[in-house]
Amino acid sequence: MSVDPDTSPLAEVVPLGRVPPVACAVVAANLQAVLGLPTQVVAARQMPPRAHLRARDQYDAAPILSALRSEVESIRVRVGVTALDLCLPILTFVYGEALVGGRVAVISSARLAAWPHGTAVGTAAGTAAGTAEEPGLLYERLAKVALHETAHALGLTHCQDHGCLMAFSVGLEKLDSIHLVFCPACEHKLVVGR
Ligand SMILES: [Zn+2]
Ligand SMILES: [Zn+2]
Repeated sequence: MSVDPDTSPLAEVVPLGRVPPVACAVVAANLQAVLGLPTQVVAARQMPPRAHLRARDQYDAAPILSALRSEVESIRVRVGVTALDLCLPILTFVYGEALVGGRVAVISSARLAAWPHGTAVGTAAGTAAGTAEEPGLLYERLAKVALHETAHALGLTHCQDHGCLMAFSVGLEKLDSIHLVFCPACEHKLVVGR
């Protein structure tokens, strides 16, 4: 997949609050490599204060998406990246959220560093289990969530193909079971949409 960087609209990765630069770099690299979008990591922004749900000490994704919408017209898609815990009022937590076709998405690393059985990445138990490839695994998960939500932002909906990045995924075990690729049908929609 190749695009002309001069004519292709840009994707923006926006750190929200304190985010390790490597996390944003991983997201940008994957948007560029898998979606073929020239991607830029831009200056960090504060989390919109109204997104903070005091009682839950989590951040409501909806007001974050509204804030990211401002002046999105000049670019193709904007993806907020945060280390803070995201949720929706009706959901305990989300890995990420997007406005379908609305060109904005937000993703969080907060829930991606736990093992399916509840062991934190990097703990002795996690390493002893022989499954730890951290932080590689964390970044692979982050890339998958970023691509899934960005594709939503570009207009794609969920896919029936269980191996596709657009499969509806619940939980880290499911997330780990899908590959870092879109199925041919979703891939086609992304290319046409570009
Ligand atoms: Zn989804
Ligand atoms: Zn698909």
